[in-house]
Amino acid sequence: MKPGLRKEILEHSEADNLRDAVAEWRWTATWLLEEDDEQHCPCDQPIREICEITNRVNGKRLEIGNKCIKLFGCDGADEAAQVCDALRRLRGQATGSPGEALIQYSLDTEVLTPDEAEFLRGLHGRKKSLIDDMDEATRIDLNRKLLREFAPAGLRGFETSAAHWHATQEKVYAERRREAIARQIEEDARERRERKERRERRERRRATSRLAAKLRRAPLREA
Ligand SMILES: [Zn+2]
Repeated sequence: MKPGLRKEILEHSEADNLRDAVAEWRWTATWLLEEDDEQHCPCDQPIREICEITNRVNGKRLEIGNKCIKLFGCDGADEAAQVCDALRRLRGQATGSPGEALIQYSLDTEVLTPDEAEFLRGLHGRKKSLIDDMDEATRIDLNRKLLREFAPAGLRGFETSAAHWHATQEKVYAERRREAIARQIEEDARERRERKERRERRERRRATSRLAAKLRRAPLREA
């Protein structure tokens, strides 16, 4: 742990040694800063991914960076780091899965309803090719909600990615429509061909039976 953070932690803890002090803290919130915001971790590093930790003994709060919380290793440090990773990922990719840590965090903070969290969990880890378009569109909407809440600065990149996805879907739909029409035309032509062949066979059969009847009658007339 960097000296600046160690000093700050000890100053705000009840324990007077670092090991006991760490046990007093837990992760309580994470958010990403807006583009024009600036903040420094107690270790002096400029940070954009803010992790709030709270002392459960005296209720004091500190805001530290995502790297420092990992080194600090308090309760929830891993989840905090995973939430940061997920938010960073969603900034540039609208269709990704937010992952379990961010889903749980959003549920705990009531940004997602239990139904929405369940929906996202259901899609997590599923192959993209097995996710239907409606579900993917719903996931994009939920991802947008998460970013709006926790990392609004990432919305611009997110919307570019979302627009790209929708445009690709439009192309896929247009291609599917074109294929369906081509298939229909082909089917109609085949049906017409088959009808014509049936008619011709029927006519041939009739001609043959007329000829047979004529032949049957012929000897009688001769006699
Ligand atoms: Zn730091």
